[in-house]
Amino acid sequence: MSTCRLVCLATLLSLVLATVVSAQNPLAKSTTESKGSKRIIDLTHSFDGRTIYWPTEDGFNLVRGSAGVTEKGYYYAANRFNAAEHGGTHVDAPIHFYKDRKTVDEIPLERLVGEGIVIDVTDACDKNPDYQIGIGDLRRWETTHGRQLVDVIVLLRTGFGRHWGNRERYLGTTKTGAEAVNDLHFPGLEPSAAIWLVEHRAIKAIGIDTPSIDHGQSRLFESHVNLFKHNVPAFENVANLDQLPSEKFTVIALPMKIGGGSGAPLRIIAMLTKPK
Ligand SMILES: [Zn+2]
Repeated sequence: MSTCRLVCLATLLSLVLATVVSAQNPLAKSTTESKGSKRIIDLTHSFDGRTIYWPTEDGFNLVRGSAGVTEKGYYYAANRFNAAEHGGTHVDAPIHFYKDRKTVDEIPLERLVGEGIVIDVTDACDKNPDYQIGIGDLRRWETTHGRQLVDVIVLLRTGFGRHWGNRERYLGTTKTGAEAVNDLHFPGLEPSAAIWLVEHRAIKAIGIDTPSIDHGQSRLFESHVNLFKHNVPAFENVANLDQLPSEKFTVIALPMKIGGGSGAPLRIIAMLTKPK
């Protein structure tokens, strides 16, 4: 056998091997696909002892159970957790602020999955932590993109996501309990903008990278009330909004399906479509 034949045979063999390996390893294939067309961004903060909850709530509590090799030889781990519905990355179901509206298990999946867009107000919120996103901010996006906010999941990027983990910066106070509520300072959606969205536009859902869709200094939670009257759910404490473009991505937001729940922990992701 000549040297050329040997080299050719070796090349052929490595090609065959590579094909077999990639066929056996679906992850290898999906990695290639993700390079070409889609990228998945996790918009969810982890639930652990540092997760930020409303100051009047206890935090997330993971109760460690057994973890180790059993007498029968297999490894086994199982824990318990307890937590408020509203804390960390979560959904507010319409019933949270409006009687006879949808509970978390009743929210139609069509509202939780769909095209996402980002309204960026980071500069305004850096200057004023009490900033409220107004109709002007929403219309600016429409003018820039030449379309209306219809059939989309609107994500409000205040930039506060980067303060996650620092209660003083993220909430405006490190206090807990009822007296902390007066000291909350973070941006939210202006009630007039909430009314405009439900009366003049038709969005699927709305999300924000702060603890509440109403800003920290709100006392009547009117954005909650107006959105929920129209059964538009809200996602709060959404993570990684800085990694999203202003449009051309899909949001998948699946909360724990708590029967009769007013809200629930939420796993939310975005799938980016890259230009070809
Ligand atoms: Zn909530």
